[in-house]
Amino acid sequence: AASLTFDSVTKRYDTTEALAGIDLTIEAGSFVALVGASGSGKSTLLKTINRLVEPTTGRVLLDDEDVTTRDATAMRRQMGYVFQRIGLFPHMRVGENIAIGPRLVGDNLSRERIGELLELVDLDPAMASRLPEELSGGQQQRVGVARALAGDPDLLLMDEPFGALDPVTRDALGTRVRDLHDRLELTTLMVTHDMAEALILADRVLVMDAGKIVADETPQALASGG
Ligand code: ADP
Ligand code: ADP
Repeated sequence: AASLTFDSVTKRYDTTEALAGIDLTIEAGSFVALVGASGSGKSTLLKTINRLVEPTTGRVLLDDEDVTTRDATAMRRQMGYVFQRIGLFPHMRVGENIAIGPRLVGDNLSRERIGELLELVDLDPAMASRLPEELSGGQQQRVGVARALAGDPDLLLMDEPFGALDPVTRDALGTRVRDLHDRLELTTLMVTHDMAEALILADRVLVMDAGKIVADETPQALASGG
């Protein structure tokens, strides 16, 4: 697991202040949900961690080291990213989709390892040879999670990972991800617009509004209205 620290992080797009001063520490091993209205800055905050977005001012530290000064390849291996739109490559088989991250940095995953990753998300290892279009939406998002875990990360970042799924599939996959978080000793940061999901899965719920964190509570405190 890895710790994360945001030190006075701001992000300004042309006219929009997407992040208006974020100071935040996320402890290694915690499962944090980030909720808030559309446009409140959740995706931007997530993207400053893996450097899809550079802060305008301030710093993001991963294990006390500024992410901008770390080797980008090593750092990206340390984190897995699950996208909102699943984003599997349609012409590549499931196994190739899972192996793409490690392959880009010169690691070839064995068939066994790919099968193991599929089993982690409750899929049949034989699915490795299928094309994404042959899978249901829920199965595809499971593959998305397996792909995020392929580099054996310390940190799992998820941007509305279950938003497009039906409620039953969403609950099952959410529970599975929480279980993997615990078993693989990850630090997990999940963006969701679903407060119920945040309360069930997370140890800590952050609420964003207009680029700021306006609440930072345990699920127990939020559920009791405190
Ligand atoms: P959320 O994930 O909470 O919906 P975002 O981080 O996507 O919020 O967006 C925060 C604000 O920044 C919004 O006003 C959005 O329109 C704006 N924004 C996000 N990305 C860009 C971009 N690449 N260029 C300009 N504005 C952006
Ligand atoms: P997602 O569904 O993954 O949250 P979005 O629809 O929010 O994606 O945004 C898709 C892409 O467009 C992202 O890279 C985001 O940074 C960018 N973006 C979001 N809002 C704006 C905006 N107002 N102007 C320009 N780019 C934006």
